[in-house]
Amino acid sequence: MPTSADSPGNAEPSKTYDVIVVGLGPTGATLANLLGLCGLSTLVLEREAAAYHLPRAVHFDDEVMRVFQTIGVAEEVTKTVRVNPGMRFVDTAGKLLLDWPRPQEVGPNGWHASYRFHQPDLEKILRDALKRFDQVDVYSRANVLQVEDRGDHAEVQYEDLASGQKCSAAARYVVGCDGARSLLRQLIGTEMEDLGFRERWLVIDVLLKQPKPELGDHTIQHCNPSRPSTYVRCPENRRRWEIAVLDGEESDEISSAGSVWQLLEPWLSPDEAVLERQAVYTFHSTIARRWRKGRLLIAGDAAHLTPPFMGQGMCAGIRDAANLAWKLALCIRALADDKLLESYESERLPHVREFIQTAVRLGGLINTCGTEEALRAALPQADGSARMESILPNLGLGPSAGCDTHRGQLFPQPRLQESGLMDDTVGYAPLLLADQALLNADELTQPALSEAGVGFLSTDGEPELGDHIKRMGAKAVLVRPDRYILGTAANKTELASLLAGAYPSPLNRTLNESDLKL
Ligand SMILES: Cc1cc2nc3c(=O)[nH]c(=O)nc-3n(C[C@H](O)[C@H](O)[C@H](O)COP(=O)(O)OP(=O)(O)OC[C@H]3O[C@@H](n4cnc5c(N)ncnc54)[C@H](O)[C@@H]3O)c2cc1C
Repeated sequence: MPTSADSPGNAEPSKTYDVIVVGLGPTGATLANLLGLCGLSTLVLEREAAAYHLPRAVHFDDEVMRVFQTIGVAEEVTKTVRVNPGMRFVDTAGKLLLDWPRPQEVGPNGWHASYRFHQPDLEKILRDALKRFDQVDVYSRANVLQVEDRGDHAEVQYEDLASGQKCSAAARYVVGCDGARSLLRQLIGTEMEDLGFRERWLVIDVLLKQPKPELGDHTIQHCNPSRPSTYVRCPENRRRWEIAVLDGEESDEISSAGSVWQLLEPWLSPDEAVLERQAVYTFHSTIARRWRKGRLLIAGDAAHLTPPFMGQGMCAGIRDAANLAWKLALCIRALADDKLLESYESERLPHVREFIQTAVRLGGLINTCGTEEALRAALPQADGSARMESILPNLGLGPSAGCDTHRGQLFPQPRLQESGLMDDTVGYAPLLLADQALLNADELTQPALSEAGVGFLSTDGEPELGDHIKRMGAKAVLVRPDRYILGTAANKTELASLLAGAYPSPLNRTLNESDLKL
């Protein structure tokens, strides 16, 4: 069986893969890499011959960079990105209404808070990384037509678009990372929750012929109620404008080259740049109400769509992948009950909803707040000013162990005294952080933890880590493979209960309703 076939042929008929991933966009590529790290046999089926050559996403955050770090591609990714200095809101005359600076220093996640990137570069890196895994097969030009849950496995029918041959493959689970028009979502048969935003925007990508520093490095929200627009400073000579399409305007007409250059007139003339792409997108704000039915699951745009004002659509898909892969691995290895997979939707859905609601609010600000007074009214602060802030929601209902006060919060990633960034000490696995005395008191040894696949890091020689855990009122924290907190312990009894819930195999138990605690 080839590892990265260009042509699908027929997947080994007698073989049942652990997971079939439908779609090799950023969500599918991230999920397949994480499943590869877990050692699961995985088949990826992608309809197109190659990754889409034009960018849609232009921004990702530090949590997503942590996932790339886990996959082992962060160093390569950093060579292709720019650190984003922040967002500015200006009025029609260009007067600054609100500044939202993003930190230029590395933050609590061990990375910068906000990056600008070129999506085709990132997708290439993620696809190339899949070639490391002998047990991951990637078939392009494989159009999935039908998926059936057969109880103990699922069967996928697909067409090899090169030969027209109908093929089939089987797996324990099938995950649809198949984008906004997801077949898997249709098969799950879910309704969609609509958060109320639906607008057409013209997306223009240009390549500057020569430097034009006056455009600036910040993202600019032009709060012009009669024609709101966004400017984005992308890597190298790429620049983007997203411009609202007004009611009554025809998409074809507004995206013609003549109309585009007219719209860009305040910033750019045709002799300064070439148009790389101009297209009208309808921005939606929808979430599937069900993300799983039996052996079928969905992730990424297949499960949720957001207007891009927060730059979080792809980020949400990558969070889905990080949340799901380790749970699939535990279920497939029979180390956890299959009910654990219910927590994928219950944890991720409210989390992504908060991001979409914030993006919808931000869209509303850009659309309507053309003055400082309007912005202050929309973003009121105690001192009378207006301020934009990042959000850091907790996961929704899901598994917990030990003390659950901090369960579902993202744990930060300090740089360790000697061994670099914390996540690198464990990879895509759970990590117990504790002071050595507490661990010794429970007569547990580091090798025993490691045998159970749980990394251990003593906080004794790590003041930053120790102080952080102390501020949480704890002496030990169990961090999940996706870097969210499973539970904490402040004493020997709580540590025993933390590890009982997660040790010898993390989450090795049947989840009851009462286990699903916030
Ligand atoms: C203008 C714009 C700006 C954006 N900006 C940002 C941003 O700055 N930051 C951000 O995080 N997000 C942003 N997004 C959102 C982001 O682009 C998407 O959320 C992300 O690309 C979705 O990735 P995905 O892998 O879930 O889906 P997709 O990228 O759509 O991938 C789905 C894949 O599935 C394949 N497929 C579909 N059906 C089948 C089938 N039946 N058989 C086989 N293969 C199939 C498709 O060919 C495709 O390759 C933006 C979106 C737009 C439109």
